[in-house]
Amino acid sequence: MPKDIGSMYLSELKEELALLGEPAYRAAQIYKWVQSGVKSFDEMTNVSKKLREILIKNYYISFATIEKKLISDYDDTRKYLLSFNDGETVESVLMKYHHGYTSCISTQAGCKMGCTFCATGQGGFFRDLTASEMLSQLRAEQEDNGIRISNIVLMGMGEPLDNYDNVLRFLHLVSSEDGMNIGMRHISLSTCGLVPRIYELAEERLQLTLSVSLHAPNDQIRSRTMPVNRKYPIGELLKACRYYIEKTGRRISFEYAMIDGVNDSDANAAELALRLKGMLCHVNLIPVNAVGGTGYKKSRQERIRSFIAVLEKAGLTATVRRTLGSDINASCGQLRRAYKKEEKTE
Ligand code: SAH
Ligand code: SF4
Repeated sequence: MPKDIGSMYLSELKEELALLGEPAYRAAQIYKWVQSGVKSFDEMTNVSKKLREILIKNYYISFATIEKKLISDYDDTRKYLLSFNDGETVESVLMKYHHGYTSCISTQAGCKMGCTFCATGQGGFFRDLTASEMLSQLRAEQEDNGIRISNIVLMGMGEPLDNYDNVLRFLHLVSSEDGMNIGMRHISLSTCGLVPRIYELAEERLQLTLSVSLHAPNDQIRSRTMPVNRKYPIGELLKACRYYIEKTGRRISFEYAMIDGVNDSDANAAELALRLKGMLCHVNLIPVNAVGGTGYKKSRQERIRSFIAVLEKAGLTATVRRTLGSDINASCGQLRRAYKKEEKTE
């Protein structure tokens, strides 16, 4: 079976090529080619034809193909449906901010976590993505737009910590000097709260931003919208978050989707403030994106303002996330779902 060369660390490639009798500098050349996004071994012009043939037999290069692209009329946000070598598809979103381009990529095709407000969660799980497939989403967007991405958020389809090893590999590869060289401080990882993995990640002491999707101030509400809470309740989750902050010295960002009548009252805000008291954190409020069939509605503007006021009075910092690309359903899972429906009706 050929191996996925794009997911290999330089050190691993050196070991592999040493077995083929090739010197370390050769491995470094090949690593650079692969990480620069070549789609075939024949593009490696400084590698001999003989070695290229050996590489073709032993390895494959994975890349992402654009199946669909939606461009927002409001803010130029671009949403992509990308397919991989086996035809599996995921969504990625490219956003332009004043400080550069941010890409929101997927870590799994689908998701096992089943959050009730999330289109991806409602669609089920298909498979984990490899590290090279995460990288290839960034490359497809860069190529298509002739730009360089400077920030990455792991907030597309999938639960990053449910694909822990591949995600960690991706983080190391994307930040490597001979790779895309995007520093950890420019990366955010969002999780629904897989507690044991948060402890594990803390030990890595990475300088990335951890976002935790909280979305509720207590177990009763959270278990209703996020089944993962039945396994890892809020108390345990926040304990893991405190540990993470202590280990890494990094502030955690708590995501809170504002759902009309579900989690958006002043009493909910007060309870949330009490639970987060004294933590090095920031609260990010997101008016929920009403996904078809879920029956959830966005909270009203005045409600959100009032909710923030309660949090701020209690000493927390909170902001409302700017929603980009709202006309193209930029929140994850919706494009893939529509695409699958189209396929079926053909
Ligand atoms: N699985 C991870 C990361 C992907 S989801 C997680 O859950 O954190 C990225 C973010 O989008 C999460 O905060 C998630 O809760 C949020 N989200 C999902 N569906 C949403 C919707 N319909 N409206 C607003 N936010 C949503
Ligand atoms: Fe999965 Fe995140 Fe969607 Fe929940 S919100 S179903 S964890 S992708």
